[in-house]
Amino acid sequence: MLTVNNLSFSYKKTPVLKNISFNLKPGENLAVIGQSGSGKSTLLKLLYGTYDLDEGQMFWKNHEILGPKFNLITGPDFMKYVAQEFDLMPFTSVGENIGEFLSNFYPEEKQNRIDELLKVVELTTYKNKKVKTLSGGQKQRVALARALAKAPEILLLDEPFSHIDNFKKQSLRRSLFNYLKDKNITCIVATHDKEDVISYADTVIVLHDTKVIANQSPQELYNSPNNALIASFFGEFNIIENHIVYAHQLKAVEKSNLKAIIKYAYFKGNHYLIEAELNGQNIFFEHPISLEKNSTVSLTINR
Ligand code: ADP
Ligand code: MG
Repeated sequence: MLTVNNLSFSYKKTPVLKNISFNLKPGENLAVIGQSGSGKSTLLKLLYGTYDLDEGQMFWKNHEILGPKFNLITGPDFMKYVAQEFDLMPFTSVGENIGEFLSNFYPEEKQNRIDELLKVVELTTYKNKKVKTLSGGQKQRVALARALAKAPEILLLDEPFSHIDNFKKQSLRRSLFNYLKDKNITCIVATHDKEDVISYADTVIVLHDTKVIANQSPQELYNSPNNALIASFFGEFNIIENHIVYAHQLKAVEKSNLKAIIKYAYFKGNHYLIEAELNGQNIFFEHPISLEKNSTVSLTINR
């Protein structure tokens, strides 16, 4: 179990995180979400032992995670951290980067392990390419494979797919998160991408204004977002009669008391997102086809 107990931290005077507490079971995937500057990266760095806490304690099983005051080398050996700015050896090959920390005592095992990890991050054909010749997204995948090489018990990932294009992102995400589940590796992902969270996280914590404002499963968080900040993470939403209503929960019908005037229609692939005016308020709903500007529709809430 990972236990974070009443953690508080500030770089200078202003507190970045205050009284943060949560637990995580081995093998679980925890997503840490929050607006830019809410302290996601700071939390990961603290979990890795990069800084000393102002207050609180962190434990993995019976091992206390301590900062630089108590440890010469940052990062306990059961943990790996892939930072937002990953650092690699640019002049050596992809394969050598991934295998850097693996023993040379069993060369065949080492190569097999490197090949296994190349598959996970879908870089098999790049094994002998020098890292400096790769794109940002490819480098990010090398950094992920390198962190996995020695099978950490806990993996800390900071915006792990931020440099990876949409063509690759979906399959890489599946491949990596399924691999971590198979190997029972505990994983903490700081992200602003709902796709990293919604299908893969067991638990989500939301950081806002130095605090944890929610700690729930993605299902609970999505189905009952208790404020606009959380709803906005998942997509377009409206506040109608004091309730949060996602755009897909608002539907055009033949007759109702909610009358809206169409302003714009945005093509979204399998539907249109319609922006309309309802009693002077801008609202969004989904519709199978485009609707004409200035026409009137009747809407109903369909939860
Ligand atoms: P996030 O990852 O959620 O965007 P960060 O953890 O990077 O947020 O930053 C949280 C807050 O701490 C921000 O206000 C940021 O400006 C500040 N901060 C981050 N790193 C440092 C640092 N090394 N020194 C001083 N302040 C920092
Ligand atoms: Mg960050």
